[in-house]
Amino acid sequence: MNLENYKLKGDKLPIFTYPDAVLSQVATPVTSFGVELEKLVGNMLFTMYHAPGIGLAAPQVGESIRLFVLDVDYDREVITNSSGEEEVRMTGYAPMVFINPVITGTSGQTFFEEGCLSVPGVYEEVKRFETIHVKFQNLQGEFQEITADDMLAICIQHENDHLDGILFIERLSNLKKNFYKKKMAKERGR
Ligand SMILES: [Zn+2]
Repeated sequence: MNLENYKLKGDKLPIFTYPDAVLSQVATPVTSFGVELEKLVGNMLFTMYHAPGIGLAAPQVGESIRLFVLDVDYDREVITNSSGEEEVRMTGYAPMVFINPVITGTSGQTFFEEGCLSVPGVYEEVKRFETIHVKFQNLQGEFQEITADDMLAICIQHENDHLDGILFIERLSNLKKNFYKKKMAKERGR
């Protein structure tokens, strides 16, 4: 199956936001591979590309299972066409899916300003490992492993945290974390 087939079709899934409970749960392993899982992954890719975002974990769409999709390479451009309408053009897709991922090795450290579709409007620098080794399963259930660095390593660590119920704001100083939690709870209460 070619993941790229999913880039432009699918259902836009609702994205859960802090403090929705599903975001703080530890997700359970994926045990059944097949049509249902493929459908979920396809819809997650569609939702991610159109959000737009560079990664999306299953708990963010309300499914507490160990799976995330990402694409740190695509280009997204909003252009105005000849009839004056805005059109979104996306190119250079490189979708990836990680099922039951486990980070088995880490080295170095790096700081990068992260954001999250589940924590809208918040962008903060987070400390991450610079290089990681990760083992995971693909959509067919086959075991794979890669070494990742740069944006890919940062994105995998961010998405993998979602599977453990950890949002990136949890990795900020207590002062910042409490500030954002209060702010978001207040906004939610409106
Ligand atoms: Zn996130």
